Amino acid sequence: MHPTIAPSALLMSQMMSQPMMISSLLTHAKNNYGTTEIVSRRTEGDIHRYTYADCEQRARQVAQMLSRLGVGPGDRVGTLAWNGYRHLELYYGISGSGSVCHTINPRLFEEQISYIINHAEDKVIFFDVSFLALIEKMLPQCPTVQHWICLSDADNMPASDFVKLACYETLIAEEQGDYDWPVFDECAASALCYTSGTTGRPKGALYSHRSTVLHAYASALPGSLSISSAEVIMPVVPMFHVNAWGTPYSCPMTGAKIVFPGAKLDGESLFELIDSERVTMSAGVPTIWAGLLQYVKENKRTFHTFKRTVIGGSTCPAAMMESFREYGVQVVHAWGMTELSPIGTVAGLKAADLSKPRAEQDHILQKQGRSLYGIEMKIVDGEGQQLPNDGKAFGDLLVKGAWVINNYFRAEQSPLVDGWFPTGDVSTIDADGNMQITDRSKDVIKSGGEWISSIDIENVAVAHPAVLIAACIAVHHPKWDERPLLVVVKKPGVTQDEDTLKKDIQTFFEGKVAKWWIPDDVSFIDKMPLTATGKLMKLSLREMFKDHRLEQ
Ligand code: ADP
Repeated sequence: MHPTIAPSALLMSQMMSQPMMISSLLTHAKNNYGTTEIVSRRTEGDIHRYTYADCEQRARQVAQMLSRLGVGPGDRVGTLAWNGYRHLELYYGISGSGSVCHTINPRLFEEQISYIINHAEDKVIFFDVSFLALIEKMLPQCPTVQHWICLSDADNMPASDFVKLACYETLIAEEQGDYDWPVFDECAASALCYTSGTTGRPKGALYSHRSTVLHAYASALPGSLSISSAEVIMPVVPMFHVNAWGTPYSCPMTGAKIVFPGAKLDGESLFELIDSERVTMSAGVPTIWAGLLQYVKENKRTFHTFKRTVIGGSTCPAAMMESFREYGVQVVHAWGMTELSPIGTVAGLKAADLSKPRAEQDHILQKQGRSLYGIEMKIVDGEGQQLPNDGKAFGDLLVKGAWVINNYFRAEQSPLVDGWFPTGDVSTIDADGNMQITDRSKDVIKSGGEWISSIDIENVAVAHPAVLIAACIAVHHPKWDERPLLVVVKKPGVTQDEDTLKKDIQTFFEGKVAKWWIPDDVSFIDKMPLTATGKLMKLSLREMFKDHRLEQ
């Protein structure tokens, strides 16, 4: 516990106290970078471009439209949309007017989507045309929603026999945009995002204006994502989940040009945009980048302006970092979660690391990195005792900070333990502050009382030339309780027979991990089950292999 000092004993400053308003990020961009472009690949198929000044004007029209629809401060407004300029206008129009922008992840199961719309009590839902079929199914189960607004112009409006649809462009054309952004308590809720709910019901993280602006400051800094007006940023990570890692806020804050990829996330479409819009930096999960790298390789393409990409959401395999390096792209490894707005740590080298051999530098860069200023971290053992930051001891990772939740939306009991948020991740922290995830606490393999990191095993496995995706799970073992089983999707064109390949993969681990960590068995499947956010769905795999017997 930190000691405190009574307010009466302090000499208070004479500085202005201005609430940190999300709307001020966009007005700042308009005033300072008014002509900087925002480019979007639309669901209509074409490329749309306009400027920060245009975006700010339309965000004010959105705010006026919401008020006309009867949406007031604190009301939740849902969005089901890809990364694009209209979604950005909604981010600002909704939060800027004091309502709460509830981004909905369309990749969740249908019953999860209706659950969160009802839990949030969304009054209005804005959606991209491509989600109409989903909306039609949702409608009967979502009594709180009064308006379903399609993000389209009148010419491209779809017809529906089931839903009374309103047209976004028609509605905002009725507004003048002569709207002054209100100023209010910076701790008011601004946005709501539910976790993927891989275990149990999805839970809502309710962000504030203050936490969002502070997260934008910290994540834009040099050494964090290093976002500036000299950059062209393509956020591939979706705006419908964890706020596209805060880029819709950090880009206007710094004046970076934004390139939104819309719904087309295949390697070729991403490459085209990177090339034609001179993208310098992007951000996304490893599965997306695997597609881009494959396209570039197969088509012998090269990058001209693309220099950096932020990878997070799952561990970035060393092999992927190396592949990007061959194309002149530096990978910045970051860690975070919905409950952290989302960024907690970013990996990077200090001046003193620059003279170290490449292998040592890579070892640092492959970790999840140091906490951003504003986030504190510690690791604890099963009894809650703090473990040393020696890079070896691993335990449950706890965090606290200005953009960490203190409770879930409408939950009675806070998840905090003595003021710290338990992340559910297991990690090490080294003497230099670098954190490295070794597992999700529910995924660690407990073999004879010792822990095996499933992530370390997967990282080695994906470096094997025949392996496309690998997941390591625990299966029951009569003597050791649990032993690792490696589940593999082979690369296309691999013809080796499975018994030989299995032995070859097991041999591949020798010298790369401790002998007793080598998976006891390797199973091959055609398609890897993935979660709504593109992560390995270990729950399904454990179910699939629950009767798997290991050879004694
Ligand atoms: P959910 O998938 O439940 O919605 P998030 O998208 O918030 O959750 O993901 C948070 C989790 O993703 C973290 O707790 C961690 O397990 C994992 N994660 C995020 N970034 C990384 C990373 N760079 N390396 C390993 N795991 C990561």
